[in-house]
This record gives sequence, structure tokens and C-alpha cells, in this order.
Amino acid sequence: MSFLSATLDRVKPSPTIAVSTMARELKAAGKDVIGLGAGEPDFDTPANIREAGKAAIDSGDTRYTAPDGTPELKAAICAKFKRDNGLDYKPAQISVGTGGKQILYNALMATLNPGDEVVIPAPYWVSYPDMVLLAGGTPVIVKAGADADYKLTPEALDAAITDKTKWFIFNSPSNPTGAAYSRDELQALTDVLVKYPHVWVMSDDIYEHLVYDGFEFFTPAQIEPALYERTLTCNGVSKAYAMTGWRIGYAGGPEKLIGAMRKVQSQSTSNPCSISQAAAVEALNGPQDFIPANNEVFRRRRDMVVEMLNAAEGIDCPKPEGAFYVYPSVTACIGKTTAGGVKIVNDEVFATALLEEKGVAVVFGAAFGLEPCFRVSYATSDELLREACTRIQDFCASLR
Ligand code: PLP
Repeated sequence: MSFLSATLDRVKPSPTIAVSTMARELKAAGKDVIGLGAGEPDFDTPANIREAGKAAIDSGDTRYTAPDGTPELKAAICAKFKRDNGLDYKPAQISVGTGGKQILYNALMATLNPGDEVVIPAPYWVSYPDMVLLAGGTPVIVKAGADADYKLTPEALDAAITDKTKWFIFNSPSNPTGAAYSRDELQALTDVLVKYPHVWVMSDDIYEHLVYDGFEFFTPAQIEPALYERTLTCNGVSKAYAMTGWRIGYAGGPEKLIGAMRKVQSQSTSNPCSISQAAAVEALNGPQDFIPANNEVFRRRRDMVVEMLNAAEGIDCPKPEGAFYVYPSVTACIGKTTAGGVKIVNDEVFATALLEEKGVAVVFGAAFGLEPCFRVSYATSDELLREACTRIQDFCASLR
């Protein structure tokens, strides 16, 4: 009998971490590698937020807090939901966890029974299907391809829902594509969801603030009040506030669900770090003006990367609305052979050969459930991005 649990057998290790490990090994061996795999901003946490963390340490804010968040942070989150999303949540409807990741995981752990299905549009953030499996549920993957700008159509959503569907996971702007749904596109999906009262909506809004060219962000519970009672609106400070290492995520939703999530958290990790919670209060209540400034940098990089990748032979790169990712297709490269003699049979081989022959680390599309593509994170310096895109162009030009 295996020592490891059967549940763990169903789960795979994170492919994005595997790519960064391989890039790190090549770097350690002296190879000139540019990593475009990171899922975090290259900016520092703003100074006022760092100061709030230091002040929390010095004032003794260093003890256990309520398991799912301090009253101060919950109040700041309620104010944020009202300000940015027009959503009314009471503190009892708020859960704070160790990163957005724990919030999603708690919600799935608190609700899934064997046989329960969770509809996940692909390409998806790598953790969604595996978290569903860990919680004992069944992921139902629905493709949303480049032909539809990587956005799920209402017809495809409708066809994926069964009597066993418990959740629909929605992520806009998306990791890995950067695609974000307009109000009309979202309304078309919520119109479908309204028809199925047994389906709950998990909206992962972690890239909310990272949108460009005047794009207006909307979240399901905001535009469809009929879904408010069965939506968990998830968010966090990791991405927009450059606070990935502080580990604070949060959600607003029905009290019964929030209470169940508290139960999971209180018997696993207990409260998220008290110092990080104090810093997150400052992030949400303090000045927000660095967000548009950072976004201008991200937008410029996105435009450069999209232009340079589309100039590479055999690559087709849609221009997304948000996040800091692009998701080019390499369909036209499949079947070709690299200068090093490798036949490109799929996107994983493409990405591995690109890393070995040109020293550029990207994550292959199969990891996100939609191939043949790869993900580029442009949360890195302009100079490195330009060099990496030039290498990708050279790599593509060398294919025969
Ligand atoms: N959701 C999506 C779509 C993400 O890309 C990430 C992080 O990469 C998270 C959630 C988790 O964020 P956190 O670092 O706050 O756990």
C-alpha cells in the first residue's frame, strides 16, 4: 500500500515551478537565461505599505488574530468592494487568507463532495484543476480558444453545466492569457448562470487593477444582482500592490460560505500573518496612484512584446486587455525542426528547445490546458524583454 494519499496521486506538481527550476539549473550551469515565467510584478511593494508593516512589528501587532482576518482589514476590504465594485458586504461576509490561493482552496475544501463538478474555462491558471482534485471534486474543462480571444462563449458555458455542477470558476483578467471580459461579454455569461440556481460562481479578480487602454473591469456579482447570494468574489493584494510575498488574499460572499471557509482555515493555517494584514490595510486604504503609473509601464511592455512576437515567423499573438501575460499560439511551428535538430511535436518541446537553444524560459500551453501555445510574463525589464523577444524571433527564423 502506498504511503502517500490516493488524492495526491491525482494531482500534478506545478508546471510553472518546473519551468523556473529548469531555468535556474541552466543559469547555475553558467548559461545566459532570461526567465519570462514569473507570475509576479517586478516592482517593489510601495514605501507606505512597507512602512505600515514595520510599524505593525514595532507596535506589537505580532500575535494571533481572528482566524480569517482582523476587524481593521475586514473593514478596509468592505470599503474596497464598495468603492471599486459597488458591492455591499458586511465584515461577517469577508474572509482573509494567506494569499488568494488559500481563499480559493478554502472555498473548494469547504464545499466539494465526491462527484461535484467544477467548470473551468481553458486556458486556466494551473492551480484551479488541481485544487478541485485535492478537494475531491471533478474539474470540467471547457476550451476558450484564440478564435474567441480566449474568452468563454455563453453557449460553451451552458453546454458544460450539468446537475452535478457546483462551481463555475471565472478569472478576468486571466492568467495565462491576459484576456478580460467587457461588461457585455460578462453579462452574456451571467445570463446563462442565472438559469441554473444550483451553480455557484467563484470569481477570481486578482488582476482587477491591471487593465489597459481605458478598459473597465466588472465582476459577476456587480453586474448581476441575482448572483450575489451564490457568488464568492475573490481578490488579493499580491498583484496590483506588488505584495506577492506578503501572502494576503480575501473574498466577499454569503455568510454561510464564509463561515465554512473560516472552519477550514481555523483547523489548518489559522490567521494570515498579522504584520501582512496591517500592511494590507494600508494598501487598500492608502493612496492608489502608483497603480496607474505601474500600469503605464505594463501597457508599454505588452505593446512591445505583442509587436515583436507577431513579427516572429510562425507565432500569432493576440493583444490582451490586462494582467501581465500574453499567450501566443505556435500552431504554425508544429512539425518543424530546430537548428539543434529537435522536431517540434508540441508546445512543450517548443518551450524546452527555446530554453536550451536560446536561453529563454517560457511556460508551455499544455500546462494551462490549451495548446499549442506558450505564456510570456512581461513583468520584467524592457531591456530583458526586448532581448528575449529578439531571441524568440531568431529561434523561429531558424526553424526548418
Ligand atoms: N489567481 C490567479 C489567477 C493567479 O495568477 C494567482 C497567482 O499567480 C493567484 C490567484 C494567487 O495569488 P496569491 O499569490 O495571492 O496566492
